[in-house]
Amino acid sequence: MHTSDHAVVIAGCGPTGLMLAGELALAGVDAAIVERRPNQELAGSRAGGLHARTIEMLDQRGIADRFLSEGQMAQVAAFAGVALDISDFPTRHNYGLGLWQNHIERILAGWVAELAVTIHRGIEVTGIAQDDTGVDVALSGGGALRARYVVGCDGGRSLIRKAAGIEFPGWDPSVSNLIAEVEVAGEPTWGVHRDAVGVHGFGKLKYEIRDGEVVYLDGGPARVMVTERQVGSAGEPTLRDLSEALIAIYGTDYGIHSPTWISRFTDMARQAASYRNGRVLLAGDAAHVHYPAGGQGLNLGVQDAVNLGWKLAQVVKKTSPESLLDTYHAERHPVAARVLRHTMAQVALLRTDDRTDALRETISGLLGIDEPRKRLAAEMSGLGIHYELGDGHPLIGRRMPDLDLATANGPLRVYTLLHEARPVLLNLGDPGGLDVTPRADRVRVVDAKCDGMWELPVLGAVTAPEAVLIRPDGYVAWVGDPAQPGLADALTTWFGLAAA
Ligand SMILES: Cc1cc2nc3c(=O)[nH]c(=O)nc-3n(C[C@H](O)[C@H](O)[C@H](O)COP(=O)(O)OP(=O)(O)OC[C@H]3O[C@@H](n4cnc5c(N)ncnc54)[C@H](O)[C@@H]3O)c2cc1C
Repeated sequence: MHTSDHAVVIAGCGPTGLMLAGELALAGVDAAIVERRPNQELAGSRAGGLHARTIEMLDQRGIADRFLSEGQMAQVAAFAGVALDISDFPTRHNYGLGLWQNHIERILAGWVAELAVTIHRGIEVTGIAQDDTGVDVALSGGGALRARYVVGCDGGRSLIRKAAGIEFPGWDPSVSNLIAEVEVAGEPTWGVHRDAVGVHGFGKLKYEIRDGEVVYLDGGPARVMVTERQVGSAGEPTLRDLSEALIAIYGTDYGIHSPTWISRFTDMARQAASYRNGRVLLAGDAAHVHYPAGGQGLNLGVQDAVNLGWKLAQVVKKTSPESLLDTYHAERHPVAARVLRHTMAQVALLRTDDRTDALRETISGLLGIDEPRKRLAAEMSGLGIHYELGDGHPLIGRRMPDLDLATANGPLRVYTLLHEARPVLLNLGDPGGLDVTPRADRVRVVDAKCDGMWELPVLGAVTAPEAVLIRPDGYVAWVGDPAQPGLADALTTWFGLAAA
């Protein structure tokens, strides 16, 4: 049996696994991905885009433009179909991006290919066994890997989650949809349709971007979605299931044929009871599944990866204790729990009876008022995330805004400082006022001036700080002035650095 050692083995090369591998590689950690699929190609379309905070995170790594140049910037945030405009939010990316998941994965894979990551494709993880020093990973075909840590980024049916004995409590489905890409001989009514059973729709797949606008083209396969009359069908859906579901709704299946992809999704909402069991961690769909309303899943997974990557890297390098990994669950579990609640609320609001229509109209009216719109839009776009990192300045635990800085080397954006995924101590007071010389190899200290307004989504203007300690994921760990105590503690807590 062939065994090779890695610091971290990631099961699954979807968006979450790719992002995590990139983060670990940036930190200089030897990571390998094991992926069942023979290549990065993805049957079907799945996620339709990125929300603002995910785009910001890609910007923090210097790769946002790769995505923006291939997609359609638009106001994509919505709640139960009610659009939530974020164009007045204080961010460079005050919009979302329409871009199908296969493109998102391709672009992420291109980035990872530039970094030192081993990817074993066409191989499945079949089992794991952890001991005091590491984890044995059994592979299909009889191979094996040994890793210090294993991260299950292997999707909703995660083998890693089950093998680690992690519970997956939640809610059984109440709605079931079939989604497919097929050829259509007839001429359906394109667009979204609602009836007593639910929401259905036919959409064209082929499009061109003309003058920055998506223009759908005639011909080619269609994307079909139909609500099933019954919930709880087991097994993989077939063309016949799709045909029967369409006939039940439209009285015809419009001559559908030649499917390239048929899938079923429901509003089952489940979340891993713990994101970590010893040396095994979970991220992305492996840790949480829910209805796609609001387009949150991929975004959550990518953000899980960015939260976990630097922490796991520091633990692997032994610069931080293992307990740092517990902050991953503490921070990310509540975020996904809120997403589950929001998707459940949306499923209820998306019901198609007259009373629910009336309720949705009421909610829609309320979301036309600035304050409720901003609050919910901050949640749906990810810009409002607030980790409980302690009291004090409102920036603590919130995303660092991408302000324009003036430095001795010229103008610079804050996010440019995060490209290497290293912590940054930004000193906006007297140059040289913060002395962290013994830690300079791990925390980059930058003296700068910033004349811009410090404004946060929903909260509005906040007091300009004299110094900010920014974690590699772009969240603020400490705010203060150079004389204020607490910096040494924050450096120790987050980056394992002993006080000077
Ligand atoms: C219809 C639909 C619409 C959606 N729309 C949106 C949207 O608009 N926005 C959004 O953010 N999200 C959306 N989502 C959700 C999104 O697709 C998922 O949340 C996202 O794919 C999760 O990424 P992941 O990497 O965690 O898991 P996955 O994408 O499921 O990747 C898991 C990977 O692990 C591999 N794997 C599984 N088991 C093993 C094993 N044992 N060994 C090796 N490899 C394994 C799989 O082959 C796969 O490549 C939608 C989902 C659906 C179904």
